[in-house]
Amino acid sequence: MKANPIVGQGTPLHRWQTSSHLAHVPVIDILDLVPAGSRAVVVAPHPDDEVLGCGGLLQLLAADRPLQLISVTDGSASHPGSRRWPVERLSVVRPQESAEALRRLGLPLHHLKWLRGGFADSQVAARETQLVDFIERHLHPEDVVFTTWRKDGHCDHEAVGRATVAAAQRVGATVHELPVWTWHWATPEDRLVPWQRARKILLSPAQVARKRHAIHAFASQLEGDPQIGLPPVLAPYVIERLLQPFEVVFV
Ligand SMILES: [Zn+2]
Repeated sequence: MKANPIVGQGTPLHRWQTSSHLAHVPVIDILDLVPAGSRAVVVAPHPDDEVLGCGGLLQLLAADRPLQLISVTDGSASHPGSRRWPVERLSVVRPQESAEALRRLGLPLHHLKWLRGGFADSQVAARETQLVDFIERHLHPEDVVFTTWRKDGHCDHEAVGRATVAAAQRVGATVHELPVWTWHWATPEDRLVPWQRARKILLSPAQVARKRHAIHAFASQLEGDPQIGLPPVLAPYVIERLLQPFEVVFV
């Protein structure tokens, strides 16, 4: 098993802000990426990735395109060994946090269909074949699908990325990948990042503010468990990196 690259505080935001690679990523209009007549489908490993990875993109699409969100797991493995945040509590609370976050994004909820996969958090790779079948059943050929990058550095993000790409290929749908934890472990000039596939979707200050407000709905992720020395998953420096005035998509 390869070492977990999501350790420490990761690459500081100011280093991304001075990245020449990032500065040269071309801007794209999300409505060109998701043409009229297409649905945007987001396949999220955990209840929060849809906001962390594409909370801006969802706001831009909401008025004009039907949206489908597939939450693969319930995120109940975020606080291993915690008595304050046991699995049973997280499995209830985390989907509720996602619902509140989507409301805070201001999405017209009648435009958004939400499906839960019921796969085990942190164990997605063990049932990847079943996940490909599951996603395939819910895709149409004209869909434009967004999921976590296959090399994002978290085992579930990578398994969901692989499974979604495979399912989309079977159906003939278009698929794009989103960096989430990449902002943590990668460096601004990192050759592991597929810069040539990167496109920027620009967000207005109001859209970034709504994304920030939505991220603060993930109360369980903003809190670790000091009793067992568990830091929060969404520490302030993690959140700041995800609130740049754009989102990046690997096309
Ligand atoms: Zn995640």
